[in-house]
Formats: sequence, structure tokens, C-alpha cells
Amino acid sequence: MSESKPKFYSLPPLPYSYNALEPYISEQQLTIHHQKHHQAYVTAANQILEKLDKARKENADIDMRATLKALSFNIGGHLLHSLYWGNMAPPSKGGGKPGGLIGDWIGKEFGSFERFKKEMSETAMSVEGSGWAALTLCRQTDRLIPMQIEKHNTNVYPMFRILLVIDVFEHAYYIDYKNNRGEYLEKFWNIINWDEVDKRLQNALK
Ligand code: MN
Repeated sequence: MSESKPKFYSLPPLPYSYNALEPYISEQQLTIHHQKHHQAYVTAANQILEKLDKARKENADIDMRATLKALSFNIGGHLLHSLYWGNMAPPSKGGGKPGGLIGDWIGKEFGSFERFKKEMSETAMSVEGSGWAALTLCRQTDRLIPMQIEKHNTNVYPMFRILLVIDVFEHAYYIDYKNNRGEYLEKFWNIINWDEVDKRLQNALK
């Protein structure tokens, strides 16, 4: 085990200020989402790891099924939110049509940016209950493939690299859009950080 890395998770700071995504995501919405919801996953993941550490030290029995289910939910929540903050940017910088490698690859895979936008919006819109929409890269085929993630953890393809995520838990938009997921998704296109998505694609291909 690496000695240089922390043994527990911590809440990463946002790469912009809490009001930076206005008018599409309000300061109040972003603050609660980051400080309350994301923090809760970090705290819970760490508590479960501590519980595992303690049970090992005492050689005590532990319900592996329940423990790992909760661990996966909370680590998934932490990692997905970390990706989510990074693939958003203030409207002055984000949104629009992507250039770079990601722009080319979207054009090649989906035929056009408009077609990609339609597929991703429908992917996000039709997630049942709480979950995520993601754009992923399959390294076996080097194809861009949309993915739905139920809650924080099911439907994930092993080894796929996640390039872009859209949080469709109601906690991501209820303050600004009530229960109107469609309106949130429409606005979301204005704050996608395509430079970051492009960087993730380039890193995934290395
Ligand atoms: Mn969330």
C-alpha cells in the first residue's frame, strides 16, 4: 500500500466560486450540493472504511454484503461528484460546441454535435429515479459510448473511462428547477467544460 497517499477521502474544493455557474446553477444550489450532498458521501465512505479497519483489528464479524453495498454507493457518489464539478465551467468559458479532439470524435461517432446532444439529453432524461448520465470511452474499441448510471454505482462498465457526467439526482437541481429535470438538462449545455472533457479524452487515450 502506498504510504504517500491519504487513507481516507476528502471533499475536493470546487474549481470555481459558488456563484460562478449562475444563472444556470444558483449559488445556493451549488453550495448545498457540494457542501452537504457531496460531503455526506465522503463522510459515509470514510466511516465505512473506519468500520472495516476496526473490525479487522478486532477480528470481528462484519456483514460484507451490506458494508460493500454502502461503500460502493458512497465511493461512487464521491468520485462521480468529483468528475461532475470538473466538467462544468462558468458560462463565459463553458458551453457551446466542443472543438479539439473531443469535437472531432463526437462528430465521427455520433454524426453531428446535434445528434450527440439529443442522445445525451435523452440518456439523462430517461435515467430512472436517481442517477447519472455519462459519456464514456471504451478502450477496447476506442468508441464513445453513452452510459446511464443508476444511483452512483450500477451499469458501470469495467475499464470504461468516464469523460463527462451529468448528475440527475433531484438534489442537483431542485432549488433552481423544482422537479423539472428537462429544464435543468437544457441549461446544462451552457456550462459544460469542453476543455476538461477534451483533456480527459486525451489522457484516456495515453
Ligand atoms: Mn449530486
